[in-house]
Amino acid sequence: RPSLYPSVISNTSKEMSAFSDFPFPEHFPVFLPNALLLDYLRRYAERFSLREHISIRKSPDFATTEQWNVITETGGMQTLHICDAVMVCSGNMSEPSLPLQSFPGIERFRGQYFHSRQYKHPDVFQGKRVLVVGMGNSGVDIAVEASRVAAKVTISTTRGAWLLSRVFEHGYPWDMVLNTRFMSLIKTNLPAPLSWWLMNYKVNRWFNHENYGLQPEKSWQVREPVLNDDLPSYILTGRITVKPGVKEFKDNSVLFHSCPEEEPIDIIVFCTGYIISFPFLEESEVRVENKHASLYKYVFPTHLQKPTLAVLGLIKPLGAIMPVAEMQARWVSRVFKGLCQLPSQSVMEKEVNEKKKNQVQWFGLTFDEVLKTEWLVYLDTLASFIGAKPSVLGLLFTDPWLALTIFFGPCSPYQFRLGGPGRWVGARQAILTQWDRVLK
Ligand code: NAP
Repeated sequence: RPSLYPSVISNTSKEMSAFSDFPFPEHFPVFLPNALLLDYLRRYAERFSLREHISIRKSPDFATTEQWNVITETGGMQTLHICDAVMVCSGNMSEPSLPLQSFPGIERFRGQYFHSRQYKHPDVFQGKRVLVVGMGNSGVDIAVEASRVAAKVTISTTRGAWLLSRVFEHGYPWDMVLNTRFMSLIKTNLPAPLSWWLMNYKVNRWFNHENYGLQPEKSWQVREPVLNDDLPSYILTGRITVKPGVKEFKDNSVLFHSCPEEEPIDIIVFCTGYIISFPFLEESEVRVENKHASLYKYVFPTHLQKPTLAVLGLIKPLGAIMPVAEMQARWVSRVFKGLCQLPSQSVMEKEVNEKKKNQVQWFGLTFDEVLKTEWLVYLDTLASFIGAKPSVLGLLFTDPWLALTIFFGPCSPYQFRLGGPGRWVGARQAILTQWDRVLK
């Protein structure tokens, strides 16, 4: 579902975003524009003959309990499907969050305003004075695009953000440098003050966030970093101005907190994120509170007698989402088939309640939202459930070169196809040639 604007470029590199048994074509760029990502998905569907399976069929065994009635609607015609199990894959970016009540005076603003979900092309900003509200990835991407045609672009942020460049140390893709097993070990084990220093040092090496007005307000609380290569230079060249949160809108202008002057504006883009919702399920199936769905490992509702409902992709890890969704699917399909067992309801509930307390750690720091988790640790956890977690220690004796590549090199998804169910014979080769495809 194209919930983001067409010009969007992937935040994670192709080697780290690939499905685990299907590397991106060599000639694709390292970070993928929308159209090429779609092309990859089509190639994947073709390679594994998925199209013929994309349909819902009736369960042959009606005697089994806990079946789901799925009603689909096409052109006004409703059809009932009875399913033994359901995977919900609607993601977390379908319902825009537009909290107009938080913006006094918006009702009297005479210009145009819309949510980033509706943004398609920068032409609408031609010659206009644009205000972008919210410094998430959508906000910064849209501000950068707008600034090429607009008369003036201002980003309003209440909290600031850590900015990372896709072009990371020595010009390598950021995720291939940061998402390694070695780095993950450091991130999760260093004492908090040291982690804090390391984190500051890493993110401020490119430019000092404070000087650019971007330093996150509570910087010990990690929020999702913004990936953008242009913003610092656009600030330096005056194309984009960064301002604090909105205090009030007037007929044709805006007032910011702790700034006395009004700023005239013509268009507001609310890049205020998304709401998680499951309008097609009964509320008791999946409860969402405070941006957190009560799901075991972000996947299974804990209260069902039999695990026949699973939610995929409802997670914001600091890394590529596709391998994560794929790993969830591998685990879920085995649970549905009865080849993998879930722990008891009380164990699952205990874990879910602990997550609600917002204790996800990365670099010894706390996340500001619950839907974030350490990418590699999460992948490893699910992989260990299905027996697909690679053993670095074991490989050190049988295949030392591969073991070292796996430990110190990027944790590319092919690592999870070296063994276990769905083992792929090409996995070893794909790991050893990952940098070749990047350099190509
Ligand atoms: P987001 O990350 O949820 O950011 C929304 C921002 O809106 C908040 O950080 C906050 O900004 C502001 N906001 C929210 N509620 C507010 C309120 N009541 N008052 C004032 N400000 C408010 O949303 P997003 O940028 O649309 O991104 C959604 C997801 O898509 C993210 O996971 C993102 O990484 C992803 N995405 C990816 C790409 C890509 O791959 N290239 C591009 C775009 C988005 P402040 O704290 O700054 O005020």
